[in-house]
Amino acid sequence: MFSVHQRIFVQVLFTISIGIVSFIGDRLLQQKSEIIRAVSDNLTHATVGGLTWSLILILSKKAILKNISKIFLCFFIASFVDVDHFLIANSWRLHDATHLQKRGFLHCSTLPIMTWLFLLIYSKMLNQPNISDYAWIILTSFLSHHIRDANRRGLWFCPFGSTRPIPYHFYLILSMIFPYLEYFSMSLLDMGIEKGLYNAPYVV
Ligand SMILES: [Zn+2]
Repeated sequence: MFSVHQRIFVQVLFTISIGIVSFIGDRLLQQKSEIIRAVSDNLTHATVGGLTWSLILILSKKAILKNISKIFLCFFIASFVDVDHFLIANSWRLHDATHLQKRGFLHCSTLPIMTWLFLLIYSKMLNQPNISDYAWIILTSFLSHHIRDANRRGLWFCPFGSTRPIPYHFYLILSMIFPYLEYFSMSLLDMGIEKGLYNAPYVV
């Protein structure tokens, strides 16, 4: 178990790591080789996803090693999001997948938000807290990926439309504070469940 000072140090370390990994990943996008650009970009998405879930675990005072499988799940989902490039291109050629005119459906933020909401309600109705964990993992991995892409193309909330591309430094700061926002939302929701706010009896 960490002391308070150690915990703050680890939190700062993980927060800064998200910013540094994103920054290095963005620099690697200037490489000439298409394959290096694609692999490093995808690895950056995956690492930021894994670090984001690790930081949420630290904030929640949960053990990292005990939850390593969930960190890897976040890592893999954050990487998987880009598979829609190949689906839209209808080709496994990297050049086709990276030269698309439109965005793939996995890049629409409405999708993970709706999935998260559905799984949260489902877990509450069946009283299965484990399912709500997966709801948050899906939301975290997809949105960490979408925030990073938003620097180039904005956040897309289909069918309503997209925001403008978000400025570079704002995207870096948003990526670093995103785990704190998620943790805050998780705590608020848990507090509501503990107080029975979602168990209000029907008024006849
Ligand atoms: Zn992407």
